[in-house]
Amino acid sequence: MIRPAPAIAAIPPTTPFIGPEQLMREHGLESLVRLGANESAFGPSPRAVEAMRAELERLSWYGDPESFALRTALARKHGCRIEQLVVGSGIDELMGLVVRAFVAPGGAALTTRGSYPTFNYHVSGYGGRLVTADYRADGRLDLDALIAVARAERPTVVYLANPDNPSGTFVERDELARFVDALPDDALVLLDEAYADFVDAGRLIAPEIDDRIVRTRTFSKAYGLAGARIGYAIASDAHVATLQKIRLHYGVNRNAQIGALASLEDEAFHAHVVREVEASREAYYALARELGLGYLESYTNFVCIDLGSASRATRVMNELLERGVWIRKPGAPPLDRYVRVSAGTAPMREAFAAALRAVLDEVPA
Ligand SMILES: *Cc1c(COP(=O)(O)O)cnc(C)c1O
Repeated sequence: MIRPAPAIAAIPPTTPFIGPEQLMREHGLESLVRLGANESAFGPSPRAVEAMRAELERLSWYGDPESFALRTALARKHGCRIEQLVVGSGIDELMGLVVRAFVAPGGAALTTRGSYPTFNYHVSGYGGRLVTADYRADGRLDLDALIAVARAERPTVVYLANPDNPSGTFVERDELARFVDALPDDALVLLDEAYADFVDAGRLIAPEIDDRIVRTRTFSKAYGLAGARIGYAIASDAHVATLQKIRLHYGVNRNAQIGALASLEDEAFHAHVVREVEASREAYYALARELGLGYLESYTNFVCIDLGSASRATRVMNELLERGVWIRKPGAPPLDRYVRVSAGTAPMREAFAAALRAVLDEVPA
């Protein structure tokens, strides 16, 4: 019998996510209100679309493997050098590079149980040992518990999403800086800032490059380019050089590089999306209050609404899907009694609100 490597054989045969297209096939749905993946409901910048359209004919060329133009623009945005930036096909890929580079087979990697799961899949896939701390009961990351596990298990990589997914909660910069200082010296913090666009820059951890931190950013959320697959990491020269060594040379789509660059230049559109997302969060808070449901205050483009129990949250999610509204829910306690709904346009929010009102009557507390 020919078998895969032990680390691969041990991975459960599930994909990290069941995509909405698969759900539509399974449920015989022709259309879906997509509020489950935190995609932008507000699309990419028209300037990005125009720039990509103008270059479509040149898709016969590979993209610049150095992403030089994009990294130059990003260096300006972040006040760093291009040697401190690496571009990948989304944070999901970059996360895999960090795990592959810094977690030896059998070595520990630390995350919060129930946080963004792609990190965990990479740790399994590269033969690492996942160790976890739980969320606090109020849905916030438990930094003290993470520090305690880090001291006991000595992980080489500590994953933290800030703002966090799926809770939507946020750790202020001073608290985060104290957290990094309290970790063992040999732990690298993989700081996933997929939602940084939705927080005032002054509240994020200081922009100076810190050898203990790899920060990741994406064009998938506020910039509305999830399908283009492009993101980047900001880190020390040494860490970037390490990631460059193992990165797929032509892994970044040429059109994505062009769209990302044009998006960065369209600051007015970015600000418009951030405002729309804020309005969307407020609308969901108001809906939850109207329905007598709790919610977590969010710093992202989604909101977690409290259904009181995991079983009720699951039933509500499934019933919404039958009505053509796709949302998700956190999988692990204490957040598993929430459903998570992404920011949407007014018609999308109204479809969600109407379906939720109807479903709540049928699914008792
Ligand atoms: C959406 C999301 C990602 C994925 O980003 P891509 O750049 O699309 O791969 C990564 N981390 C978190 C926390 C996310 O919510």
